[in-house]
Amino acid sequence: MYDFDQLVETKEKIYFGIMLIISILLYTALFISIVGIGYLLAGALAIYCSNGLYIGYLKQNAVKVSKNQFGDIYAIVENYSKQLQLKKIPEIYVLQSGGVLNAMVCRFRYRNFMIIFSNVLELAYEQGEEAVKFIVAHELAHIKRKHLSKRVFVLPGMLIPFLSSAYSRSCEFTCDNIAARLASVEPTKGLLLLLAGQKLYNKVDTNEFLSESKKEKDFWTWFAEIISSHPSLSSRLAKRIASH
Ligand SMILES: [Zn+2]
Repeated sequence: MYDFDQLVETKEKIYFGIMLIISILLYTALFISIVGIGYLLAGALAIYCSNGLYIGYLKQNAVKVSKNQFGDIYAIVENYSKQLQLKKIPEIYVLQSGGVLNAMVCRFRYRNFMIIFSNVLELAYEQGEEAVKFIVAHELAHIKRKHLSKRVFVLPGMLIPFLSSAYSRSCEFTCDNIAARLASVEPTKGLLLLLAGQKLYNKVDTNEFLSESKKEKDFWTWFAEIISSHPSLSSRLAKRIASH
């Protein structure tokens, strides 16, 4: 069994540690003031309700993936979940997305949910599973690393803007590392799919794209990246190619 911990970005551990220290201090400050406890309870209730609403919507408006429904996708998720030694396979839903190509995970009442946008799945059926495998593996890596459940410990720390987005970006790189290891496919394909879409991703000249985006780097490209929760697709692609 592969030790996936080796693939965790050092920055993820460092940023998590800093946010944890800040969060412990802020949580302690909130706990010792009566008003603070009220804020904490109100915040927890708001998060619980918004997650509940989203999952409630999903259960009635998305297709649940199982052995009998989109069984081939279920088999991929089952296989990767086993390799990652996840205690439980997440509940998987296919959601109509109006063309948006993505997948995501969320957590509600101690259960993990994976949402695959319908266009990603369409592609799997039209052109093979290569690109989709990377995307699915990336989402499972978030579950493996407990990125969602850990949030509760570092929630106050996440209010610090640049720190929380830097932490989030390092988590994304970790999940790309794990996905590249897990999905025995050309990992850039999944990223190219997110970049150029279902019809064009196979036509993108990756080297040309990377050299152009390198030339275009300036203050604003840097600033756009450091306030973002996800690394730019050019950074993610460059990292995958460098470590391939
Ligand atoms: Zn991600």
